[in-house]
Amino acid sequence: MKVLLLGSGGREYAMALKLKASATPVELFAAPGSDGLAELGTCHSLDSEDPTVVAAWCAAHRPDLVVVGPEAPLVAGVADAVRAVDVPVFGHGAATARLEGSKAFAKAFMERHGIPCAASRTVTDLAEGEALIRSWPHGYPIVLKADGLAAGKGVVLAQDEAEALATFQAFLAGQFGEASRTVVFEEPLVGMELSLHVLVDVDADHAAYALLPACQDHKRIFEEDRGPNTGGMGAFGPIPFLRPGDVERMRRELVEPTVRGLQKDGLLARGVLFLGVMWTAAGPKLLEYNVRFGDPETQVLMQLLDEDLPSLLMEVAQGRLVARELHLKPGTAITVVLAAQGYPESAVKGVPITLGRTPVTVIHAGTRRQEGQWLTHGGRVLNLATAAPDLAAARAAIAAALPAVHWPGMQVRRDIGLKALAHAQA
Ligand code: ATP
Repeated sequence: MKVLLLGSGGREYAMALKLKASATPVELFAAPGSDGLAELGTCHSLDSEDPTVVAAWCAAHRPDLVVVGPEAPLVAGVADAVRAVDVPVFGHGAATARLEGSKAFAKAFMERHGIPCAASRTVTDLAEGEALIRSWPHGYPIVLKADGLAAGKGVVLAQDEAEALATFQAFLAGQFGEASRTVVFEEPLVGMELSLHVLVDVDADHAAYALLPACQDHKRIFEEDRGPNTGGMGAFGPIPFLRPGDVERMRRELVEPTVRGLQKDGLLARGVLFLGVMWTAAGPKLLEYNVRFGDPETQVLMQLLDEDLPSLLMEVAQGRLVARELHLKPGTAITVVLAAQGYPESAVKGVPITLGRTPVTVIHAGTRRQEGQWLTHGGRVLNLATAAPDLAAARAAIAAALPAVHWPGMQVRRDIGLKALAHAQA
């Protein structure tokens, strides 16, 4: 089976490992790929965000399946263009990708379909926004969100009126270009954040979904959730203190109305939805949709999934997913990110990595290979991932593996899953 995987990070490397682990031989192509992915397949330096370029490659090379990793190609319409040349794609069309590409669109969708979420107002006018801040009824912080994609930097929790005004004015003035000329104001939610992934296959006369286990990411760079936000420094799943009833509640209140809403709105969905959830005192509320797998959650999910990944993704891509409980390995999986010096503001590149033997899975995210030596080449450089009977054992396995990997300036959080463990044991 010939598979083209779009992307270049840890998420794609984890998926590539799982694709290659299939009993069906997979010939893997990646675009743009990375030196890590080049060890698992053939990389092509085509512009993976250009629908015409990707569709032309597919028309010429006829892969059996295209798997889209990141959101940018989806928002740009790459999946639509590939489907138009009759190649199955795991990835949503541009219309559905707006659920991630426009926060105003996503909020309107949630409200229209009765999905519990933070109260919000969408504003494009300076005077209207300033007046809203001065009479803000929901307390602080005021959550301000740039409407479009802003590389994870478009959400500000403003602690007072002055910060809210300054943030809003900068957004409207085009801090993130067109992406911030529409601003969503949200009520602050308090609770525990979690990531819920759902495979979805929805068209006019078919609507099926399959839930993946809930995971928890750790966004801040430093231990104890201090320091600036990152793309994610580590994750684990399933969450030990979520009871089966809690998962059922998210299925009933968040997932099913989403699937019904997609169908009602005529939005074709052939991929994954990642629901960012805040579990508040009043129950689960939806923070956001992402239209692709999370990074680093994918590294966890690929460890847990006991399914043939090429067949599963193909079922979704061909619109024949059967709603079911997915087969999962028992226990808990964890991934810990090893990041470059300077991350998240910058990343020191070109530093040689000492990479010894380890029994856990090493996932390449931002590495480069030069004359047989791995070098740092991005903010998030490597992940260590494993599965174990429980969270404590999974944490211990990573701690035992960590001394095998090192470079000067390497940053790692040793507390991934620690809070959850304490919570579960309390
Ligand atoms: P991501 O990088 O997770 O895709 P994003 O830029 O798409 O982020 P959101 O996920 O909507 O934006 O928000 C980023 C973070 O801000 C959330 O993970 C959450 O911690 C916080 N946040 C968002 N909305 C709220 C809210 N209403 N109340 C409290 N915190 C919030």
